[in-house]
Amino acid sequence: MNILLLGSGGREHALSWKLAQSPSLTKLYAAPGNPGIAEEAELVALDVTDHGAVIAFCAEHAIGLVVVGPEAPLVDGLSDSLRTAGVPVFGPSQAAAQLEGSKGFTKDLCARAGIPTAGYVRTHSLDEARAALARFAAPYVLKADGLAAGKGVVIAETLAEAEDALADMFGGGFGEAGAQVVIEEFMAGEEASFFALTDGTTILPFGSAQDHKRVGDGDTGPNTGGMGAYSPAPVLTPELQARVMAEIIEPTVRTMREDGTPYQGVLFAGLMLTADGPKLIEYNARFGDPECQVLMMRLKSDLVPIMLACAQGTLDDGEIAFSDVTALTVVMAARGYPGTPEKGGAIVLGDAESAGVKIFHAGTARKDGALVAAGGRVLAVTATGANVTEAQAHAYRAVDAINFPTGFSRRDIGWREVAREAG
Ligand code: ATP
Repeated sequence: MNILLLGSGGREHALSWKLAQSPSLTKLYAAPGNPGIAEEAELVALDVTDHGAVIAFCAEHAIGLVVVGPEAPLVDGLSDSLRTAGVPVFGPSQAAAQLEGSKGFTKDLCARAGIPTAGYVRTHSLDEARAALARFAAPYVLKADGLAAGKGVVIAETLAEAEDALADMFGGGFGEAGAQVVIEEFMAGEEASFFALTDGTTILPFGSAQDHKRVGDGDTGPNTGGMGAYSPAPVLTPELQARVMAEIIEPTVRTMREDGTPYQGVLFAGLMLTADGPKLIEYNARFGDPECQVLMMRLKSDLVPIMLACAQGTLDDGEIAFSDVTALTVVMAARGYPGTPEKGGAIVLGDAESAGVKIFHAGTARKDGALVAAGGRVLAVTATGANVTEAQAHAYRAVDAINFPTGFSRRDIGWREVAREAG
């Protein structure tokens, strides 16, 4: 089967690497892809906002499955256009992608389905939002309703800070995403991610992970897209995972189906492990980046038939097989990230890649044949080990073997778990 993969980050390189291992794959195309993805796929230039062009490409190249990496094309309804044209697609419809695209939508669904999450109010104007603050206590959690590339959440320590942030949000500081603001109760606990694949009815757990959002060691500095991750997350014990499935994932998929907007694809739950049990922070309608890299590193099952079954509504009950090892990924970013990253810096991978170590490209380009940095997050150096401590040691050995003078990485990815493993 020919497959078209959409996206260009480390997440998509991990997907292309795994898809390319499938005996069912005839030819992989990627748009726009990156130099790492080019090792497994033919890169093509396609404007994903031009649904007609994507459909025409699929017809011309006998594409049997489209895999959508990032959220924007999902929220933009590309899956609907492809499905209408008869092209199977791994990725939810526009209506179902609202689970990521509108925080208010998800909170309302949780309220209806009795899913554990923070108490909330949806607000539509600055006056309404300021008045609503009185119903909450510090720290105040304020969220622009729409997609804001991970930057739409403010946690304000004081009432004055919260009022300033609301003024900024309603003042256009967050574009259209800020036309509505959700105010939430603050939840204390440790965060973890849980993944499930579904065809709208059948749901299969797809593993756990924890990531590091802040740019600096010790989880300091500004937020980023993610500086590293590991999987599985031992803190999400089998008992907790069973609760997440029963109390959060299953009621979500059931409600979406009953509402006539079945969810098909990967459901990525951001969770807070509170003293009262796991609670939903947010949903994403796609794999996380860099969580996808560690999940793919451990996945033993053939990804193609699973994704196709999600797309066609034919997912069977049964286990998806993962290796028992731990996978850990360290993001190497370009100096300046998450502000203005320095582009064009030379990268020499040397022999950093070896058995159990895979270097996924995130923001790289080729210049006169040589590899250079082309974005904020540049590489995701991913390694396996018997536990987080060992996987971390293997990953940093590979990081240290890479010559990327204008790049940097955190040195403590996995620290929480490494401390727990040290007892
Ligand atoms: P992401 O980049 O994860 O997609 P996002 O902008 O979609 O981010 P959320 O995941 O909802 O937003 O929130 C971002 C972060 O803010 C969370 O990872 C968590 O650390 C914190 N957070 C969000 N909601 C709460 C809450 N109710 N209580 C405590 N912390 C919260």
